[in-house]
Amino acid sequence: MSGRGAGGATAPGALVPVDEALARLRAALVPVTGTEVVALADAAGRVLAADAVAQRANPPEANAAVDGYGFAAAAVGAGPQRLALVAGRAAAGQPFGGAVPRGAAIRILTGAVLPVGVDAVVMDEDCALDGGAVGFAVPVKAGMNTRPAGEDVAAGALALAAGHRLRAPDLALLAALGVGRVQVCRRLRVGVLSTGDEIIPDPALPALPHQIWDANRPMLLALVAGWGCAAVDLGHVRDDRRKIAARLDRGAARVDVILTSGGASAGDEDHVSRLLRTRGTLSSWRIAMKPGRPLARALWRGVPVLGLPGNPVAALVCALIFARPALGLLAGAGWRAPIGFDVPAAFEKTKKAGRREYLRARIGPQGVEVFASEGSGRISGLSWAEGLVELAEPAGQVRLGDKVRFLPYGGFGF
Ligand code: AMP
Ligand code: MG
Repeated sequence: MSGRGAGGATAPGALVPVDEALARLRAALVPVTGTEVVALADAAGRVLAADAVAQRANPPEANAAVDGYGFAAAAVGAGPQRLALVAGRAAAGQPFGGAVPRGAAIRILTGAVLPVGVDAVVMDEDCALDGGAVGFAVPVKAGMNTRPAGEDVAAGALALAAGHRLRAPDLALLAALGVGRVQVCRRLRVGVLSTGDEIIPDPALPALPHQIWDANRPMLLALVAGWGCAAVDLGHVRDDRRKIAARLDRGAARVDVILTSGGASAGDEDHVSRLLRTRGTLSSWRIAMKPGRPLARALWRGVPVLGLPGNPVAALVCALIFARPALGLLAGAGWRAPIGFDVPAAFEKTKKAGRREYLRARIGPQGVEVFASEGSGRISGLSWAEGLVELAEPAGQVRLGDKVRFLPYGGFGF
């Protein structure tokens, strides 16, 4: 989004294919630098700025995988066994201090470090106690029912690479490896601004019949917060160049990137794109995509601005397809394509050539279903959906049972 370098190859007015627009956007972005060190407990959702390395092996010592009786496998032959029990036991957090003599056994519980002289464990279910001895008839092998030291991760091994966004399971891994503090990228500050004379900024305020409540701002703020960014509400501004400019000035002083919605086309009332064209460095593209034609990218006082369409359906689709990878790159997490699956269609559709289409969709018993209407004003379809069906640019006929690409909302990180 910095400068015009990656734009402009296509003739004015021509539709830009989605992949080309993505490539241009990607080429124009550099990560926002800046890192900090945080405690692991505060690290969920943060992007690692440096590799995280195991401070210790997992597990640190060989230990028992079951409750049972431990002994040296080499001292035991084939057939039924009867081993004398030593006094004491080994439990998790309560290691047995002594050594277990060859041919003897010890009571051992799951997670206990294997005492000296023990390399195999027979589980309770296979044992019979008899006075001071334990008997069993299962075949014995060295290492049975134990976990070797370092079987999961070796000390000093790479646990998670720089650029990884930490999720709940990652916190378990790093904690297990003794990583108490992590170096992470500074949280990307993302400003969200709505435009339009018809927009009432807050659904708690009254709206006249010709006015509509701002649907995009709560959606976009929640999306970017869910992506681990610091969401900054830049509010709503009317279609007035001076007011929009002043709001962008204020935003640019506080955030790393600004998402606007509305006014991004080339029409009379499209003040955002007019302003960015005259005062910012604008690359405005009409993208060969349904929904969501206009997408503006510009720099305002050095801060990247991504101008999304005003229509909430188009705004969401453009945010998922364009803003998400762009923000990931800026945030240090790298550019990531959405996760998709090929699933049988539970719908039929004749698709025209020349543009990529995204349909509001969800999985049903017969395959992926699409929302009853493709109308771009049908916000309820966004909420009904659990993902998008992506139909490639060529013309096509989707028939029941044909494989189509389903991009679950979860793959977009929400
Ligand atoms: P625009 O891109 O400004 O031409 O807006 C396209 C359509 O989206 C119009 O019907 C607008 O009223 C509507 N729209 C624009 N911004 C919002 C918003 N923040 N919330 C809901 N609808 C919007
Ligand atoms: Mg508008």
